[in-house]
Amino acid sequence: MPDYDGQMPSPTYGIQPPHEPDAHVDPLATTALAFSRAANRRWKVQPHEARLAYRSLHRAGAAPGAPLEWMAPPVPAKTLVDGMTVKFTLPVGDGLETESVLIPMPHRDGSVTRTLCVSSQVGCAMGCTFCETAQMGLMRQLTVREIVQQLHVARHVVACPESGRLGMPVKNIVFMGMGEPMDNLDAVLGAVEVLCDHDGPAVPAQNITISTVGRLDGIRRLGEFISRSGFRKLNLAVSLNAPNDAIRSSIMPINRSAPMGALREALITFPMRKSAAICVEYVLIPGVNDAPEHADQVCAWLCGIRCSLNVIPYNPRRESPWRAPTEDETAAFLARCIANGQFTKRRGTKGRAAMAACGQLGNERIRRRRFVPLGVDPTAAPGGA
Ligand code: SF4
Repeated sequence: MPDYDGQMPSPTYGIQPPHEPDAHVDPLATTALAFSRAANRRWKVQPHEARLAYRSLHRAGAAPGAPLEWMAPPVPAKTLVDGMTVKFTLPVGDGLETESVLIPMPHRDGSVTRTLCVSSQVGCAMGCTFCETAQMGLMRQLTVREIVQQLHVARHVVACPESGRLGMPVKNIVFMGMGEPMDNLDAVLGAVEVLCDHDGPAVPAQNITISTVGRLDGIRRLGEFISRSGFRKLNLAVSLNAPNDAIRSSIMPINRSAPMGALREALITFPMRKSAAICVEYVLIPGVNDAPEHADQVCAWLCGIRCSLNVIPYNPRRESPWRAPTEDETAAFLARCIANGQFTKRRGTKGRAAMAACGQLGNERIRRRRFVPLGVDPTAAPGGA
């Protein structure tokens, strides 16, 4: 379990991404402007030609006629399909891989758009006891390219389960895959700059959500970042998962250094645009955080924070001491929150069979290289405080 000493001092715990030799000439790792300038310096091509190639690579998946060294080398993606949900993995060297999930969002008119859940790290240092990824510990930070590449492959490489065609339209991107995004915030914000680039993937900032377990320094930095033109509408999600400090500290070690009072203050002062709301996630674990009085405490804590509460029925990790909640248990918790006047939604479970659902990412083979025991005693799980 990670050793926290006050607010976490190093955003990387000394585990750095591999050196990116010349990121500016890698079109998946930089913005169109920086790429066209770097290409002009290195290859003496006109900046507008480089910009066109950049645009074509991001939009169409290839830029015919452009020098080979500009292009993203093909990455072998392994896919696992569960209904319309697709989990795919991409190798990032040393036997490690990223995991991403394409979550379908069917619409009334019969069309389907997808949300892409991306990883920001291989593994994670945060040690949340309900999470599969936590059992890997933090193995490596991802680079800007390795984050952006997940969208590139989703849009241009992975086969669509309905049509069989290569690539799927991705509407939203959520940083909710492996890793704590604010533990690798430089790369995450660098990736957001590329993802939002009008000449590149052109994902609107309002369609991107960065989720955190509550790193206060990261929330502050994100607040500064969104004051920049073009990023004002970026969304923040916070993984709360508990009604009080006693329960939260028992399942989320971050709470020992950043308790709920400080987190609440950070959310209240987060510089959101007027129409925005923070997404507060609550993984519902039977016998741990699902009692009626827990719903009341959560709603009282949320009072004064512009937010929507997103209740996620727990998806058991491997060797989980806890089961998933029943439909009735989930419905009862939701009803209690709604009765308290809290805007509350239930997140549907998708991809559980492919270990692609929330909290289930993490390759078992890689995990075996360094298993981090989470030390949970289910009989000692607190029932309230
Ligand atoms: S829930 Fe998120 S922050 Fe916590 S261990 Fe899992 S990946 Fe890390």
